[in-house]
Amino acid sequence: MTAPDAAGPSNFIKNIIEEDLKNGKNDGRVHTRFPPEPNGYLHIGHAKSICLNFGIAAEFNGLCNLRMDDTNPTKEEVEYVESIKQDVHWMGFDWQDRMYYASDYFERFYECAVDLIKKGRAYVCDLSPDEMRQYRGTLTEAGKESPYRSRPVEENLDLFERMRKGEFPDGSRTLRAKIDMASGNINMRDPVIYRILHAEHHMTGDRWCIYPMYDYAHCISDSIEGITHSICTLEFEDHRPLYDWFLDELGIYHPQQIEFARLNLTYTVMSKRKFIQLVTGGHVRGWDDPRMPTISGLRRRGYTPESVRSFCDRIGVAKAASTVDMALLEYCIREDLNRRAPRVMAVLRPLRVVITNYPENQTDELEAINNPEDPSAGTRKVPFSRVIYIEKEDFMEDPPKKFFRLSPGREVRLRYAYFITCVDVIKDERGEITEIHCTYDPATRGGDAPDGRKVKATLHWVSAAESIEAEVRLYDHLFIKPDPEEDEDRDFISNINPKSLEIVTDCRIEPGLAGAKHGSKYQFERLGYFCVDSDSSPGKPVFNRTVTLKDTWAKIQNAQK
Ligand code: ATP
Ligand code: MG
Repeated sequence: MTAPDAAGPSNFIKNIIEEDLKNGKNDGRVHTRFPPEPNGYLHIGHAKSICLNFGIAAEFNGLCNLRMDDTNPTKEEVEYVESIKQDVHWMGFDWQDRMYYASDYFERFYECAVDLIKKGRAYVCDLSPDEMRQYRGTLTEAGKESPYRSRPVEENLDLFERMRKGEFPDGSRTLRAKIDMASGNINMRDPVIYRILHAEHHMTGDRWCIYPMYDYAHCISDSIEGITHSICTLEFEDHRPLYDWFLDELGIYHPQQIEFARLNLTYTVMSKRKFIQLVTGGHVRGWDDPRMPTISGLRRRGYTPESVRSFCDRIGVAKAASTVDMALLEYCIREDLNRRAPRVMAVLRPLRVVITNYPENQTDELEAINNPEDPSAGTRKVPFSRVIYIEKEDFMEDPPKKFFRLSPGREVRLRYAYFITCVDVIKDERGEITEIHCTYDPATRGGDAPDGRKVKATLHWVSAAESIEAEVRLYDHLFIKPDPEEDEDRDFISNINPKSLEIVTDCRIEPGLAGAKHGSKYQFERLGYFCVDSDSSPGKPVFNRTVTLKDTWAKIQNAQK
C-alpha cells in the first residue's frame, strides 16, 4: 500500500489553517482529531472526515488524534472500537500513541460541571423529560424557565454529588447549563449537561451512573487534547455557540470548531442507525456486506485505500450540502485497478465448445499478457485444449443484425489463442443447446491471421479440463432509487433493490487462480474487476465483482457538457 499523499487539493478549511499559521495562532501548532462514536462501523462519509483530519495534520506538520466519543453507554460496543481502529489503519492513517476515549475524561467532565455549578452557570433540574420538552418552547416561541433554575449553589452541589452516587433513578433529574430560555437558538435554552443512566459502560463498567451529553463532553475533550481545529459536519453549526459557551465559562483552552458538509452518495443511505436496521433486519449479510457503503464493506467488495482516498480528494470539502454520484466512487476504483490488477480469463456462465479438428489429449500453452497497462507485470501461460468454455451470451443461434459474436458459420477470435468457426450446434431432447462444435485455424495461433483476414469479435474462454470452478457474486445498487429516503412517508427499507446480489455458482476460471489469496484483485477480461472473498475455501474460490468495466461516470460527465 502506498502512503497517502502529503498534500491533497486546497479547501476552505485549509485556507483557515494557513491564515491561522500566518497569524501565529496556537503557536504555529496544528492538531486535529477524528472522533467517532463507537456505535457502529465506519462508512465512506467517515472516510471523508478521516482523510480531512489526518490529511490536514500530515500536510501542516501537525498531529491527529483518534478519539472514541464514547459518552453513550447503551449503544456502544468493543467490537465497534476494534473495527474503527482497523478501518482507520486500512485507510492508511496512523494516530501513533494518541488513541483516546472520551470516557477517560469522565472525572474531568465531572469537575468541570462542579465548576459551572459554583459559578452559577449550571443547576440540577427535576423536570421530567416530558415537562422539559414542554418548557423548551419552539422555533418561533421562547421557552419557559424551569422552576428549579434558581436553586442555590450549595443545593445544586449536594444534589449533583448525590446524582453521581446513584441516589436517584434514571430520568428523575438532570444537570443543566443556565444560559437563556429565550434564545433564538434552541441549543442554548438551558441544555442538559448530565443525565442519570444506570448502565454499564464498555470502558468504565458501573463506575458511573451519570453520563455527560455530547455537546458538553466534546468541547472539553477537544480542549484537554489541545486540539487547534475541531472539524465537524454541518449539523453542528447551530451547536457552535454552545461549544464556545462551555469553554468560555470554564475559562479553559478554546479550540476552534469548523463545520463542513457531510458526504451523501446516491443509491445508498449513510448513517450507522440505518445500517443497524439493514444488518439486524437481514437485508444484508452483515456490516461488511460488499453492498454496504461501510469501509469494511468497500474493502470486502475490493476497493483499495488508494481509491477511497482519491475519491475523497475528488469530492472536495465544502460548506454546502450535496449528494455525490456513486458512479464517481466506481470510477475511482476502476482507475486504480486498471493500473494494478492482473488480467485473467473467467467464464461466468459456461457454454461447452468442442474444437473438432484439435487433437484429443493435446494441450497447448498460450502466452497471455498480465496487464497491458503495466509491462512489468509480464506474461503467463494459459492452457488450451480440444474442449473449452465460452460465455453463454457470446453465442447466438439466430443472431440479430448487430450481434457480432459467435453464431453458426461465423469466425471469431479466442483471446490470445486462435480463430474458431462455429460448424454445429448440439441440443438435448428439450431443444436446449448443450454444446457447440467449432473448427480452429492453426495458422492463427496467438490471435492473428497471417493472411490478414479480420474477425469482428474477440471472446474470452477457459480450457474445460484445466479450468477450476468458482463462485462469483455480482452486485447492483443496494437501493432502487438514487435517493432511497426521498419519500418521507415510506421507510427507506421499502426501496431496497431485490436484485442487488446475484450469486453464480458454477463459473470457470483460469487454473492459475487456484490458490488466489483472500483480498487479491483481478480484472476478469470483459467482465469487470473482481476480488477474492473471505468465504473462499481451498477447493472453491469465491469472487466479488467490485465493479464492471463500463465507465458510467464518463458518460455522466459527457452528458453534462
Ligand atoms: P452517523 O449518522 O452515520 O451515525 P455520526 O456523525 O453520528 O454518523 P460519528 O461517529 O459521530 O458519526 O462521526 C465521527 C466523525 O465523522 C464526526 O466528526 C462526523 O462529523 C464525521 N462524519 C460522520 N458522517 C459523515 C459524513 N457523511 N460525511 C463526512 N463526515 C462525516
Ligand atoms: Mg453521532
